[in-house]
Amino acid sequence: MPTPHLPVARADFDQVMVPTFAPAAFVPVRGQGSRVWDQSGRELVDLTGGIAVNVLGHAHPALVAALTEQAGKLWHISNVFTNEPALRLARKLVDATFADRAFFCNSGAEANEAAFKLARRYAFDVHGEEKVEIISALNSFHGRTLFTVTVGGQPKYSDGFGPKIQGITHVPYNDLEALKAVVSERTCAVVLEPIQGESGILPAEQAYLEGARALCDEHDALLIFDEVQTGVGRTGDLFAYMHSGVRPDILTTAKSLGGGFPIGAMLATDRVASHFSVGTHGTTYGGNPLACAVAEAVIDIVNTPEVLEGVKARHQRFRTRLEQIGERYGIFSQIRGRGLLIGCVLSPAWKGRAKDVFDAAEREALMVLQAGPDVVRLAPSLVIEQADIDEGLDRLERAIAKLVDA
Ligand SMILES: *Cc1c(COP(=O)(O)O)cnc(C)c1O
Repeated sequence: MPTPHLPVARADFDQVMVPTFAPAAFVPVRGQGSRVWDQSGRELVDLTGGIAVNVLGHAHPALVAALTEQAGKLWHISNVFTNEPALRLARKLVDATFADRAFFCNSGAEANEAAFKLARRYAFDVHGEEKVEIISALNSFHGRTLFTVTVGGQPKYSDGFGPKIQGITHVPYNDLEALKAVVSERTCAVVLEPIQGESGILPAEQAYLEGARALCDEHDALLIFDEVQTGVGRTGDLFAYMHSGVRPDILTTAKSLGGGFPIGAMLATDRVASHFSVGTHGTTYGGNPLACAVAEAVIDIVNTPEVLEGVKARHQRFRTRLEQIGERYGIFSQIRGRGLLIGCVLSPAWKGRAKDVFDAAEREALMVLQAGPDVVRLAPSLVIEQADIDEGLDRLERAIAKLVDA
């Protein structure tokens, strides 16, 4: 007989958890597709996808099958040995992208940490110790380790932790002239999100990406795309870079890759990847068979024309309705983003009130996200049912109608 679970509630969070988060008032206990149930049995519509993670919704049968099958075989074996799921996943990612090689880890921050270290090692090996500068964008987000918050363009995340990693320069996003002004022979990498996620679902302009590529080529700096949020079908392409046709030297991805099971990946060309040799970087859990088996199932399903075309069709359904809601209540000035990474930009009258929309949605049994204080973000399952889209947006409209009346 298993011991019964200790009864817990939201209030326990404030007593026993390190207070890095301020979770919603309810505690989810179960999910199926794009619906979630809380402790009281209330059913919510989930348009968050676990912050762009649950690409196939909750408890997708193929992912449950991949996880449980692998769980009965081999969970962890360490990187002293390799394993079949990791090899298959690497083969599939390499075959589907610009990359020749993959490095697996457990999160987006770890993937970026590996990417930044690899870029510096490449420059060190090829050009010597002066070429260390990493250029990134203001308001960018690359994770929460000390290196990745320092590269990220948000001082609120990097200040107050003592000396920072040196050699990082920030420039305004989508400003090619600003980038041109700082790239030099000292630059080892330029890192960009193809769509800035955390800071408001802001897509890069085509000319900006092309210009960044050309500047990197001119100075033998590496172009790193952080696709932790945009990768694995989220934008309607397997990776967002495919939409622009601009290829990076290194790409990082995580969130959607495991569909809810923790995994991250750094993909790189052979020319660059060869500068990590045995012992220069590593991980204990990275590339474990359990995570890789799930990610392989995710890739098999997501990297199909049905799913990727479905993302584009769903985008249109969301956009049409969100634009209507925005106009009817004067709440959104713009709907932006691609695929199922959608930002509803609050109009000047609503500026700073994304949290109010989040709270109002919760009262209507709807889960949405913020991307900064001025943008309501939706990042649902890529296979969300039409009925769930419509029901979710009905609830959003009710929530907004009440906010407007309040
Ligand atoms: C979420 C995110 C990260 C960090 O990923 P973690 O898994 O939380 O470490 C890095 N970059 C981008 C663009 C992200 O959206």
